[in-house]
Amino acid sequence: MNNERVEAKKKYGQNFLKDESVLRKIVEAMPKSDNKIVEIGPGLGDLTKFLVKVKSVEAFEVDTDLCKRLNITFKDEIATKRLHIHCGDVLEAWQSTLVDEPYDLVANLPYYIATNIILKALADPMCKSLLVMVQLEVAQKFAAETGDKVFSGLSVITQSVGTASIVIDVPPTAFDPMPKVDSAVMLIQKHSDRSDKAFEDMLKVAFAQPRKTLLKNLSSHYDKTKLLEIFEQLDLSLTIRPHQLHTTDYHQLYKKI
Ligand code: SAM
Repeated sequence: MNNERVEAKKKYGQNFLKDESVLRKIVEAMPKSDNKIVEIGPGLGDLTKFLVKVKSVEAFEVDTDLCKRLNITFKDEIATKRLHIHCGDVLEAWQSTLVDEPYDLVANLPYYIATNIILKALADPMCKSLLVMVQLEVAQKFAAETGDKVFSGLSVITQSVGTASIVIDVPPTAFDPMPKVDSAVMLIQKHSDRSDKAFEDMLKVAFAQPRKTLLKNLSSHYDKTKLLEIFEQLDLSLTIRPHQLHTTDYHQLYKKI
């Protein structure tokens, strides 16, 4: 590896993962599959060097200084096509799919766009699983179960396409520079692709004010008389809060609305 010190760029969410034990745990938690690996934000290549030992990797890095460095560090892997570095903003590279073959996403994500990246990966038919380091609070939102205080539209979207779990809790001391928040590695195993946009729009309305009742939130956008009929048909309490409903009920509700 190139050991020259690099100044982390805040604007790109650069917190480099330095704890080898966490890096090893991430590799151990990777789902067994024949899929390619996609890494978003290889940074200095600390995780990449473990990943290329397991499979071939497509990596997307926005920082041109880091791209240059990665091209030197991994010149052998690049020459043998074990690693391909795409230099540029991953969100711009992402059309309906990120790469044109099935892949598992493994990444220590830039936190400022982590939610956006996860939602894109959930919608991407080529993405089969996600093993991603994110802010602990974000992981808890995606992986929450009905009844949890943080159960949200993100949890419903995740449960509609797969199963999510938090596999490793990671303290700030594992990174350089240290982030101000706790982190976690979350695994999402997909069984289908992300639900449609209209369903997600309904979820936004349903969770707009999480402490209010579901009926109150939905009434701000949909006809109340019709909603009362639907609540009765689905045997839903008029005082139920958005976090208390199961994902299957949200799908029923959506069909009727
Ligand atoms: N994987 C490295 C590690 O674990 O040490 C770095 C992780 S760091 C939290 C996030 C990485 O994502 C940085 O290398 C950053 O430059 C990169 N990044 C930030 N925004 C990006 C974007 N829009 N597209 C691609 N990479 C991005």
